[in-house]
Amino acid sequence: MGKPKGFLEHARKDPRKRPVEERVQDYREIERPLSLEELREQASRCMDCGVPSCHAYGCPLSNRVPDFNDMVFKGQWQRALDLLQSKNNFPEITGRICPALCEAACSLSINQKAVSIRQIELQIIERGWREGWIQPEPAEQKTGKRVAIIGSGPAGLAAAQQLARLGHDVTAFEKADRVGGILRYGIPDFKLEKDILDRRLEQLREEGVKFETNVNAGVDLSAGYLQRTFDAILIAAGARVPRDLDIPGRDLKGVHFALEFLVQQNRRNAGDAIPKDMAITAAGKDVVVIGGGDTGSDCVGTCIRQRAKQVTQIELLPQPPPDRLEDNPWPTWPRILRTTSSHEEGCERMWSILTKELVGESGAVQKLSCVKIEWSEPDENGRRSFEEVAGSEFELEADLVLLALGFLRVEHGPLIKDLGIDTDERGNICVGDAHMTNVPGVFAAGDSVLGASLVVRAIALGRKAAEGLDRYLMGDG
Ligand SMILES: Cc1cc2nc3c(=O)[nH]c(=O)nc-3n(C[C@H](O)[C@H](O)[C@H](O)COP(=O)(O)OP(=O)(O)OC[C@H]3O[C@@H](n4cnc5c(N)ncnc54)[C@H](O)[C@@H]3O)c2cc1C
Repeated sequence: MGKPKGFLEHARKDPRKRPVEERVQDYREIERPLSLEELREQASRCMDCGVPSCHAYGCPLSNRVPDFNDMVFKGQWQRALDLLQSKNNFPEITGRICPALCEAACSLSINQKAVSIRQIELQIIERGWREGWIQPEPAEQKTGKRVAIIGSGPAGLAAAQQLARLGHDVTAFEKADRVGGILRYGIPDFKLEKDILDRRLEQLREEGVKFETNVNAGVDLSAGYLQRTFDAILIAAGARVPRDLDIPGRDLKGVHFALEFLVQQNRRNAGDAIPKDMAITAAGKDVVVIGGGDTGSDCVGTCIRQRAKQVTQIELLPQPPPDRLEDNPWPTWPRILRTTSSHEEGCERMWSILTKELVGESGAVQKLSCVKIEWSEPDENGRRSFEEVAGSEFELEADLVLLALGFLRVEHGPLIKDLGIDTDERGNICVGDAHMTNVPGVFAAGDSVLGASLVVRAIALGRKAAEGLDRYLMGDG
């Protein structure tokens, strides 16, 4: 490393955030980048740890983290960019919204704060864009093979880029009216402004990827047509079936899935008009978000920007500890309390809460009937159960309830059924080593294989599936 003892001289520094009172007025990005000198110092904190778990264990893309940290320290920005892009198609996206599994596995984080890897990654790629170093890389030779990709989220996009660069003729079909999957419709603009995505899509187009939106594959194009027309198919359709809450009052007006709510705000930010009778808004309302995860947190930040009267986020699971417990050692992902930028903006959070009923008047939700619960210690299989705490029933006022309970699996629509694709007991698509399904020539990647996961894993699987698909078309030679 350029500065072997940098970690002894410099503490971790995180990017500054815009003040809460300023940022809740808009949907623009929250973080402000570190200065060049600060970033160089941060890069110098990467120590010569010998076994870089950030790269080998933490990052699903096996990003060459210690190498690019060293290059940034030495001012070798273009080399750092080349290295970064050799592993990751969209560092400008992971650099903004990845939970940074690499940082959780950083050796320094055993007893200090991890190296600011995500910030270093982001600044390498943004410098690349600013300097004009990132250009389309079209294939020199075409293979004449046609590939259909179903779904344009990060898995489909990463696969599309890899395959187009290998010379295949790639068409990505997308059910929605715009390309991007959850990057476009789901993740709030204050976490990922959409021009960041559009900038990269332009590069994909110039590399030859064709996008066809408003096409529901399996319905608008039959499975048979896709198989006849294309030499191979890659399904990257996400895990879009939301977990529901089967309790009395679920049908009341004002109770919505989180994604329905989030997508409407993405659309407003993109300039779309939402018909009045369909609009879901938090303005002036008491909002309860059920589900304590990231989707719930995205709802919180969006409700605050819409001027909700009050936002409460409730979770069935107990409050996580502030630090790792013994059964959760480094370098595994720390199961600890996380406070997002949205939580900082003003929301009450409650844990170990069971919602028993949604209560309304004239068909519209007015409150939640809840009870506190107590969790048991894990049994021999690691499973925990809960009991209601006697006498702890209480009510929460709510005229908007957002269900952020996670996602179950890929939709088992006509495409999966007509192709005859095997799924596992959780409903995810089964794939073999080369990411091929049980149907020859049909591959799958991303959340449709993993269940709801992360952007970085979707990109990693998209790349692996593209590799398997290319070998299927071209052989090993
Ligand atoms: C609200 C929210 C916030 C999140 N925030 C983060 C975050 O901050 N960081 C992070 O790492 N991860 C985050 N995630 C998770 C991440 O977005 C997903 O893991 C990732 O997008 C999965 O990528 P994918 O390509 O597999 O699927 P998706 O992004 O879901 O894309 C699948 C695409 O396939 C299309 N499709 C489906 N069926 C068809 C069909 N039959 N024909 C044509 N098109 C079809 C869909 O319309 C969709 O556009 C978040 C998820 C949600 C819901």
